[in-house]
Amino acid sequence: MQGMMMNRPLKIADILSYAADVHPSGEIISVRTEGDLHRTTYGEISKRVAQLAHGLRDLGVEPGQRIATLAWNGYRHFELYYAISGIGGVCHTINPRLSAEQMIYIITHAEDRVLFLDVTFVPLIEALADKLPADLRFVLMTDRAHMPKSTLDLLCYEEILEGHPTSIEWPDFPEETAAGLCYTSGTTGNPKGVLYSHRSTVLHAMSAAIALPEGTASGRKILPVVPLFHVNAWGLPYITPMTGASLVFPGPALDGKSLFDLMDQEGVYSAWGVPTVWLGLLGQIKEEGRLPDGFKDVVIGGSAAPEAMIEAFETAGVNVCHAWGMTEMSPIGTQGNLPYPMRDLPLAERVAAKSSPGRRIFGVELKIVDEDGAPLPHDGKAAGELYVRGNTIASGYFNNPDASAAAVDKDGWFGTGDVAMIDPTGFLTITDRAKDLIKSGGEWISSLDLENIVMSHPRVASCAAIAVPHPKWDERPLLVVVPEGDQPPGQEELLDMLAEHFAKWQLPDDIVFADTLPLTATGKVSKLTLRKIYANHALPDAG
Ligand code: ADP
Repeated sequence: MQGMMMNRPLKIADILSYAADVHPSGEIISVRTEGDLHRTTYGEISKRVAQLAHGLRDLGVEPGQRIATLAWNGYRHFELYYAISGIGGVCHTINPRLSAEQMIYIITHAEDRVLFLDVTFVPLIEALADKLPADLRFVLMTDRAHMPKSTLDLLCYEEILEGHPTSIEWPDFPEETAAGLCYTSGTTGNPKGVLYSHRSTVLHAMSAAIALPEGTASGRKILPVVPLFHVNAWGLPYITPMTGASLVFPGPALDGKSLFDLMDQEGVYSAWGVPTVWLGLLGQIKEEGRLPDGFKDVVIGGSAAPEAMIEAFETAGVNVCHAWGMTEMSPIGTQGNLPYPMRDLPLAERVAAKSSPGRRIFGVELKIVDEDGAPLPHDGKAAGELYVRGNTIASGYFNNPDASAAAVDKDGWFGTGDVAMIDPTGFLTITDRAKDLIKSGGEWISSLDLENIVMSHPRVASCAAIAVPHPKWDERPLLVVVPEGDQPPGQEELLDMLAEHFAKWQLPDDIVFADTLPLTATGKVSKLTLRKIYANHALPDAG
């Protein structure tokens, strides 16, 4: 028997209409490429989004067309998210840190019709222009007064809005309609496009808001360091208009001092981003000897949060929520807010509990399997490849039948490529990315576990453990360390520290020091690049 309730399509535009109605004074504060700080509200921005939607239609944008953005976190980027999807288009966010070759590939693959770009990226696109589709149009996200001279035929963003009505009747379409497109950074092979729908986007925002109530509560300010060009800034532009939290967009400057000053000035309650950006902020907090005013909550995801980082924040009085997910999951899969009785644990136990990225959010199912695909128990001991299933998880990749076929198993679960354990209370431990595990003489060594210990050394800024080829053992661990300050810790000292936690055969065969670690386009340590750099590294006992 069917239920007898209305069946209205879930639509992204309804999120902003709701905010304009219920949270009209919720703010969107942006550091602009023009150099100033811009303030608006959900009430005001919904009018500009309507104008932009009319303007897009005037440009000839039709439902289903892909419209690209190449921009920092700011209110105009937010407007594009809503206006493009509102009229049935697909907002394709491009990561400016991709290589030129990858950028050309994804713009061509997505068949983008219009590219909206921040002033910063004009030289980048000028240099690529002759390799981009001839009919691609460019809109510069600024006003007439800030339009630079360019070899590109540039339209002006503010002129596209001008003269249009400040309201719009958003069209209805099925909730499965595509709304957003984000390519994974493609560490192997070409980037693959994840095509979000209105339904998946709205459901993801609702689940994430429930799972992460701390910073997203009405009236609080959230700063997404995580870019709008990387998995929809983890859903924040959709979550906050639902809950009534305000958004503080940091623009291009993401160093510790710029973040500290902006957070301090605006009284940011919660900030979200990958571990590498928090190293900078923690450095600035140390220098200032205090937290930014009002800072109470940090969401760390995208890579494993080192225990030393969790401890530093928690000691300073900032609640850490360690989250795990991926582009294909919209992206949030699990979150590490502790259940209430555990919140009062002593510091050391709390930090240890939070080194797990927590439990699945509502709507995401998890399973771990052995090499034959057979499910493994959630006993906190068995480790296997992690598979996921749910309404916010990709069922395949845009225009890529081969990758789509390989993505899901016969029961429709998506293979994450991560190796994990799940304990009986649902807490997840990511052992490693399958491709980053180090296989020594048939036994696996977790690079994440080694790094976690070394990162707790006060004179280590960051580090990475990677596999290097070995004639006898196939692979052995090499540790690459970036020291903090000019007194690097000794090799012996680090090995002694590791020896307290690991068996002898799991210890790195060598430790090398470097000034920096290479990063991927999404700001994570690029182990692929490190493996290439050190492929011929002579290990001391390799003969
Ligand atoms: P890319 O970095 O290639 O763009 P994603 O941003 O989608 O791709 O990265 C997803 C991957 O990042 C996960 O599969 C996992 O390996 C890693 N990851 C994300 N969060 C965590 C975490 N909390 N702990 C460990 N690994 C994580």
